[in-house]
Amino acid sequence: MKLKKHLFVCFLLLSVATYAQKNPVAEVTKLVTKSEVEAHLTFLASDEMRGRDTGSPEFDIAANYVAAQYKIFGLKPAPGLTGYFQSVPLQNSHPATGGQLTLGSDVFKYKDDFILFEGENTNWKGDVVYAGYGSAEELEKINVKGKLVIALAGTKDAGGNPMAIFAASGDKYKDATKAGAAGLIEIFASPQIPWPALVNYFAGNVTMKVKSGNGSVPHIWLKDSDTESLKKIREEALSGALTVEGVKKVDVPSRNVVGMIEGTDPKLRGEYLIVSAHLDHVGVQKNAQPDKDSIFNGARDNAIGVVGLISTAKYLSQYPPKRSVLFIALTGEEKGLLGSKYYADNPLVPLNKTVFNFNCDGAGYNDVTMATIIGMERTTAEADLSKACQAFGLKAAVDPVPEQNLFERSDNYNFAVKGVPAITFAPGTKAFDADLLKYYHQPADEVGSLDFDYLIKYFRAYVYANVLLASNPAAPVWKAGDKFEAEAKKLYTK
Ligand SMILES: [Zn+2]
Repeated sequence: MKLKKHLFVCFLLLSVATYAQKNPVAEVTKLVTKSEVEAHLTFLASDEMRGRDTGSPEFDIAANYVAAQYKIFGLKPAPGLTGYFQSVPLQNSHPATGGQLTLGSDVFKYKDDFILFEGENTNWKGDVVYAGYGSAEELEKINVKGKLVIALAGTKDAGGNPMAIFAASGDKYKDATKAGAAGLIEIFASPQIPWPALVNYFAGNVTMKVKSGNGSVPHIWLKDSDTESLKKIREEALSGALTVEGVKKVDVPSRNVVGMIEGTDPKLRGEYLIVSAHLDHVGVQKNAQPDKDSIFNGARDNAIGVVGLISTAKYLSQYPPKRSVLFIALTGEEKGLLGSKYYADNPLVPLNKTVFNFNCDGAGYNDVTMATIIGMERTTAEADLSKACQAFGLKAAVDPVPEQNLFERSDNYNFAVKGVPAITFAPGTKAFDADLLKYYHQPADEVGSLDFDYLIKYFRAYVYANVLLASNPAAPVWKAGDKFEAEAKKLYTK
């Protein structure tokens, strides 16, 4: 009798112990507290952080803050790193101040007729050859070595559609430089985008990029015109000359903040979930009126995402999941997804062992009954995501504004193009309306305007979703027919 009683107590204790670990909803609720998330948000979005602009001292303070959390939680450095920082070499390019392109007997002027995307100051003379749309196949057929290649912007299939022009431009430039061309000129003919708007945007601003070995070869967009040379060039090579002056390049060293938790399952620990959020925002408004708030605090965009990441790191450091997890607070998102681009090109764990990227980012929120998951319906993670949101009283909602291309406007995109299933968890967005735009990239995006009753549910749902994803025996995959399915097949069969 006594013995039996003793056994019963043992059994009871055992089941309580396993119950504590088997009830992650209760554990998440206990570990992710309102006061703690409020503390992180208040620090990251304070005026003293001056909008966490990439390259600013305040961004580096924010990076140190995240690294300090990793240290407190006992995260390991990622393979190949001695600490939590992955150096990201960025570079500011100050636009040219002048230049001239001569083609046969025609002379084109910088800004009036052409803009420069890449390139240094130059004084070049040589042959110019035409290459259709400048596709890899077209380039292969002609000898472009040492010559300026001129091609139509866009692609054979999509013509001069602006999206196609932007999408194809980078690859063409890469292909042309690889083939040894002295430069690439794309003839831009898209009535949807007026020339002055292009000039304003691309020739009027300092642009930040990942620093690369190339970039000294000129990449030009030339306004389409009825000039003699642009007709003739399709038939025969012409002699040409190019001068560019005033270009200035300034290095901007920055960093991604990376930490790791090893998985507990002997088989699944070789697979990685990447939890990411961009740490940078857009800094301080230049030329603001002195009596007006000029600091873009970026509480919503994206201190919220970083706090989602920190909260997940805290939880999973206490309850390690089956898979390994890499946490990355990213730099340079607002400058063009630069930190994630750099990571995807220079991964710290193999991309073909990276099973999923769950990014946390958003423009803000105008519906506190849900979380908006950009890409939710595109992968088999859907069920875990719904379950996690429901557990905290939120609906998991799909992207309400596909026309905004949000999927391609956050860091998940750079993982997706490599084939890794990658989506973004965002606060409840029912539309891109005035309620949202009131805060989106505005000085008003401050902690004081946040609804913490909503946010605590949002953070807990994000943490719990990561808990489920990191231990689900089946890694999420793109659904059949998805745009990135083919790339994933290539990646994971490597
Ligand atoms: Zn953002």
